[in-house]
Amino acid sequence: PAKANVPALVIGTGYGGAVAALRLAQAGVDVHMVEMGMAWDTPGPDGKIFCTTTSPDHRSYWLRTKTKAPLNYFLGFPIDRDISRYTGILDAEEFGGITVYQGRGVGGGSLVNGGMAVTPKRQHFASVLPSVNPDEMYDVYYPRANAGLGVGLIDPAWFESTACYQYSRVGRKHAQRSGFPWTFVPDVYDWDYMKQEAAGTAPKSALAGEILYGNNHGKKSLQKTYLAQARATGRVTISPLHRVTSVTPAGGAYTVTMEQLDTSGNVVAVKQVTANRVFFAAGSVGTSKLLVKLKATGALPGLNDEVGKGWGDNGNVMCGRANHLWDPTGKLQSTIPCSGIDNWDAGGAFAEVAPLPTGIETYASFYLSITRNPYRAQFTWNAAAGKVELNWQTAWKQPSITMAKTIFDKINSKEGTIYRTDLFGVYKIWGDHLTYHPLGGAVLNKATDNYGRLHGHPGLYVIDGALIPGNTTVNPFVTITALAERNIERIIATDL
Ligand code: FAD
Repeated sequence: PAKANVPALVIGTGYGGAVAALRLAQAGVDVHMVEMGMAWDTPGPDGKIFCTTTSPDHRSYWLRTKTKAPLNYFLGFPIDRDISRYTGILDAEEFGGITVYQGRGVGGGSLVNGGMAVTPKRQHFASVLPSVNPDEMYDVYYPRANAGLGVGLIDPAWFESTACYQYSRVGRKHAQRSGFPWTFVPDVYDWDYMKQEAAGTAPKSALAGEILYGNNHGKKSLQKTYLAQARATGRVTISPLHRVTSVTPAGGAYTVTMEQLDTSGNVVAVKQVTANRVFFAAGSVGTSKLLVKLKATGALPGLNDEVGKGWGDNGNVMCGRANHLWDPTGKLQSTIPCSGIDNWDAGGAFAEVAPLPTGIETYASFYLSITRNPYRAQFTWNAAAGKVELNWQTAWKQPSITMAKTIFDKINSKEGTIYRTDLFGVYKIWGDHLTYHPLGGAVLNKATDNYGRLHGHPGLYVIDGALIPGNTTVNPFVTITALAERNIERIIATDL
């Protein structure tokens, strides 16, 4: 092979990329990580790295001039505001029928997500990753992922007493009165730190409305876990504000082309490096877009026809319920959800009791449901437009709504309550326009072999959410991390 600049190049710094980088570095391999978003390690003029959800500024969105909040109305009024165009942290990427929210920056989705770290029930695993042996996942890789991510549970005694989880206790009461199993949801937020926030002995983050645009304290994002460990090996370099645009074979190695961006999103330089091995960890959408384009334009002609297929939204759908005046949910709400309603087996829905951290009493219960939506979409290359498209249809959310209703219709009828209609528009009940959980597009054992090796091009791997065919039955990042742990262990043992 030609002498490469780097032995291993990782595209993206989310869960899959962070696992790959750490384990490769520990095995003695030098790793270059390329990340299109910012480093998010330097405070802005207000002394803070991240802005809050209640006063979003330029740091909030990826190259937008107006915010695009997932929950975009309140009391029937639009809440989006003008911002200056900047390489902000949350990308609301719009395809024909769906807006896909993704983290941008060193740490990927871990920068913006709720930190809910849920391992699927073992009896559901065959539906998540049918070609993977569940024994090895539940005995080795899920425990390894949970440990590496720093997953923990809320102290149940504190849960009962703290004002900031009144919304969750109301959610439990209503679930249980309707006979639904209710469960605590683990999280990577530092629960001891949150207790200090509540006690007023530490700067507030979860209790100050921080979440979607980053948490200044408390959350164990990948920057603090896998990526910190990876950097500590001394073998990992990270280039933020560099976006990979092409990967092509070069005499047994690969030429990787990338654009360096300024914070307004302008391309300021184009660079190339050669790498012996390239790991696609740009997220389900990022990896799929690259692979579909590279196959269609002939840059990677050996990729098979599975590339771009099998994409799903994890059945995400949101709704709110209007409670009676004797059921306030609290004006102080922790942004970190800690509980859920499990009606997966009976109705195909797992609903997280989510916060509405507005700072005022809303008498609303708010839920993000993960559902067993059967639809799968495909990414394709539109040569005329020079971009990748996704054929998801908004109407494909209907099964998700039907499944979520198996929970909330029953609760409403038992409680004598109604749905909120002021959170997603004027008289609109369902948040059915978005997903937080893109999955698939380069499915394991289809576009790749059973360990993420891309067919047709030895030395190219997929190691992120693109491997998972559309649904994880719960929040996805623990499964993405555990699968990456499994695959990289095999790749290190046999390919290096
Ligand atoms: P990502 O984490 O998306 O990382 C991909 C990285 O690659 C990004 O940093 C991106 O900027 C970069 N990239 C993309 N394209 C390129 C390119 N061409 N060149 C260079 N870099 C590139 N999941 C849970 O399990 N629990 C939760 O509580 C939860 N809450 C969420 C809340 C929100 C608002 C959002 C948006 C997501 C949430 N998720 C949650 C989903 C979770 O964050 C994702 O499933 C996860 O981050 C996906 O991991 P990944 O490794 O596949 O990719």
